[in-house]
Amino acid sequence: MLEKYAAYLNMISEKIEKFFKKQQPYIFCKKGCSKCCENAQYPFSEIEYKYLMSGYHTLPYTKQEQIHKNILNVLNEKHNTKEKPFTYKCPFLINNECSVYKYRGIICRTFGLLVADNGGSDVPFCALDGLNYSNVYDSKKHLISSVMFNKLGIKEEPLAFNIQYNFLTSAEFANGYGFEFGKTKPLIDWFENNEDFKHIKTKQ
Ligand code: SF4
Ligand code: SF4
Repeated sequence: MLEKYAAYLNMISEKIEKFFKKQQPYIFCKKGCSKCCENAQYPFSEIEYKYLMSGYHTLPYTKQEQIHKNILNVLNEKHNTKEKPFTYKCPFLINNECSVYKYRGIICRTFGLLVADNGGSDVPFCALDGLNYSNVYDSKKHLISSVMFNKLGIKEEPLAFNIQYNFLTSAEFANGYGFEFGKTKPLIDWFENNEDFKHIKTKQ
């Protein structure tokens, strides 16, 4: 099942990478920038979670231990807050880098692009931090500005892509590749009362 999911993941990852290349004048992602992994819910379907954990098990013990601690801390935060929806720093983020990059989820792969949504587009939150699309995003009018685009003199237009999480995780795609996504929940919720996870011990 995981191999079939991995084949689908490779296919969509290649497409998403092409979208990033096409939008290169508007993309300011760089090594060490991890804002998109610091305060969100991160929807993960069951197969994405299993794939992520298959990556986790390849990590050196010290990294596994760090992630385990991070997960316990986030669960603790979750149980002590009334915040809804609960948002948190991803426990797999270590020193501003994804520790399971190759195994990261689908939502992680789409962070930073303009997402097509009901005829409009969702701008990545980091546009407001001077990052992706900030050179064409009018923060007062909350839209991609044709005036700003024209001033830049860039040939490639800012484009929104059909990369909504619900679309990329639809049953039709899974059926085509012979796997099922299973249910979806925020990443941290996969670790609540999780028997598989309980065997991971923290060094004394
Ligand atoms: S799995 Fe990796 S890319 Fe995805 S939110 Fe966590 S740290 Fe970020
Ligand atoms: S999407 Fe935005 S916040 Fe995330 S790495 Fe790229 S520039 Fe940074």
